[in-house]
Amino acid sequence: MTWIVEVRCTIEEAAEADMPDITLAAHERDDETWRLAAYTETHPDAALIAAVAALAPSSTEPPVVRELPERDWVRFSQSALVPVTVGRFHVYSQAHAHTLRPGRIGLRIEAGRAFGTGHHATTVGCLAAIDRARREGLVVNRALDLGTGTGVLAMAIAKRWPRARIVAADIDPVAVTVARANLRANRVRAGVRGGMVSTSVADGPRGRALAGHYDLVVANILARPLVHMAPALARMVAPGGRLVLAGLLQRQARRVWAAYRSRGLVALAYPARVAWPTLEFVRRGSAMRGTHGTAAGSAR
Ligand code: SAH
Repeated sequence: MTWIVEVRCTIEEAAEADMPDITLAAHERDDETWRLAAYTETHPDAALIAAVAALAPSSTEPPVVRELPERDWVRFSQSALVPVTVGRFHVYSQAHAHTLRPGRIGLRIEAGRAFGTGHHATTVGCLAAIDRARREGLVVNRALDLGTGTGVLAMAIAKRWPRARIVAADIDPVAVTVARANLRANRVRAGVRGGMVSTSVADGPRGRALAGHYDLVVANILARPLVHMAPALARMVAPGGRLVLAGLLQRQARRVWAAYRSRGLVALAYPARVAWPTLEFVRRGSAMRGTHGTAAGSAR
């Protein structure tokens, strides 16, 4: 279950709003008033409600708390398309281009035929993990986004590690087409060299275009395929590299966690309370800068 704590605000308050580890979305109503919403997967406590109120000192009413039924995520992700701010990332559609503020990294995504507008809890979790990895100083020469959908995560990685070679793959050719268009719209170069994202259609991690080792692997798919592909996907994480998995429900998390942990990966965090947990792992060893990027059959 997801809860929303929502307060009326000014556009300036919406643009300035920031809260560590909490997904915030700001949106403009038809009557041109703004609302700021905090999303939480645990019941909002007084401290959170007070924190949301503090983000909008202009408001004369207290924040409103309501439940967002799980099924609404799908509708929400396809229609509402309010801008979503996660760490330094600001995911928005053209209609909300004016909400992008200096210091934020914009990812422009239009609602369309592929999954990944930035509004699903799993996408948000992956964006937060990418942002955190960058802040922690992870060195990324090569990255893989498996199940790229709109390409949102591949683009987020490209913006944070501008010289990395990134592979974005999806089993769905339509998603790959959408991802390519989004790369263009976000001025991320398509190609196989440093500072570029290459796209390919692939079922799981076995495709030739994906072969090699990666400093950062993100896969927002579903629990069952993630367990199935664990042996091959885990092997692709370079020493010192990081693996981010999402798309699983809390009740499926332990199974996915076990499948990867038994493959030389160390779990960074086990989020026990959220509905859609993001799992993060590292492979022991130091990143071998530049030496693992040329493995045979790599995306070159
Ligand atoms: N990365 C985006 C989209 C996630 S939705 C985001 O984080 O928002 C999951 C995507 O995985 C879908 O686009 C789906 O087509 C793709 N997918 C599902 N099974 C797959 C598989 N076996 N191999 C590659 N991609 C897969």
